[in-house]
Amino acid sequence: MSVFESFGLRKVINASGKMTALGASAVSDEVAEALKQASQDYVDIDEMMEFAGKVIAEYTGSEDGCPTCGAAAGIAISVASVITGKNLTLIERIPDSEGLRNEIIIQKGQQIHFGASIGQMIRIGGGSAVEVGSANKVEADHIRQAITEKTAALLYVKSHHAVQKGMQPIETMMEIAKANNIPFIIDAAAEEDFKKYIKMGADIVIYSGGKALEGPTSGLICGKKDLMEACRMQYKGIGRPMKIGKEGVAGLIAALRQYPYKEDNPDDQIARMTKLCESLKTVNGLTCSIKQDEAGRAIYRAQIEVDTDKAGLTAEQLLHRLEIGNPAIYLRHHYVNIGILAVDPRPLLKGQEEVIANTIKSILNEEQPK
Ligand SMILES: *Cc1c(COP(=O)(O)O)cnc(C)c1O
Repeated sequence: MSVFESFGLRKVINASGKMTALGASAVSDEVAEALKQASQDYVDIDEMMEFAGKVIAEYTGSEDGCPTCGAAAGIAISVASVITGKNLTLIERIPDSEGLRNEIIIQKGQQIHFGASIGQMIRIGGGSAVEVGSANKVEADHIRQAITEKTAALLYVKSHHAVQKGMQPIETMMEIAKANNIPFIIDAAAEEDFKKYIKMGADIVIYSGGKALEGPTSGLICGKKDLMEACRMQYKGIGRPMKIGKEGVAGLIAALRQYPYKEDNPDDQIARMTKLCESLKTVNGLTCSIKQDEAGRAIYRAQIEVDTDKAGLTAEQLLHRLEIGNPAIYLRHHYVNIGILAVDPRPLLKGQEEVIANTIKSILNEEQPK
């Protein structure tokens, strides 16, 4: 029995992705061992944080780094760092940043909600978000013309949650930041490439430790040395109520060290999802096919289309029935409004695709006249 089942909580089959609401990632034995050992021992925390910065630097190609309890904390801490630098008096004053250079420019289509709003994370860090352009259209001039003597940073949000069309690309925003000598921050929370944005020239890049990295609940910031020192110093200020513990840091380091060796196995994903589709083939009202990730990542999901008339229920209803069951099954549902559900093979433990297929079949059999 799992620890959650021993609490009387329902077993969860996660077929939706690295969802914070479902616990993000299930870590490897190596990462779990690091978490366990760290939690049963002592360490000089300042020394550990500096060491973690060096490990983050090594795996991201940056000058230095700062571990956090998540990417959301990473946004707040990064924003605070560009406002206060390493000035302790200012660090202790955040989120009150009155009179300081505190404006954070963000494109309107990237002012998103990832489970909480980016705008609020900026405010926690003492920033004042300046949204530019419209939700579906931003011109380079909108960004340029928003810059004032109060601008503290430009923030780009790389995310499937953001509007993908009509926004200015990273390159343009970075060029504007550089031309004006203003730090450029990228929130790359769910991205898989831990080197790309530093290589492009960003001053600060933020990642989640629990998403692509498959680490524990954690996050990391990487970038320029002075800024990373300023980030670590925020633990004397706003970082304190969002601190990452020694366990989290040890787990994050273990996850970084194994990441380059992690196998992405698209063949295995395709084989498992094909099996799932085969199994659903006989079900009236469902069409199942293999689809590559919308953003072009090496993820192959099973896409299930629900024909309501034939299936006897809508995709929303099927999704809901799966979620309230025991085990609770969570499918990906970005397109449920057009009748499409998807099964993400990455978080699925062995054999769970069969449980999903069988559960879907039994739900539909109840709905369909024999
Ligand atoms: C998930 C996400 C976050 C928050 O990450 P946590 O590690 O859960 O704090 C922030 N920004 C974006 C774009 C995200 O997708």
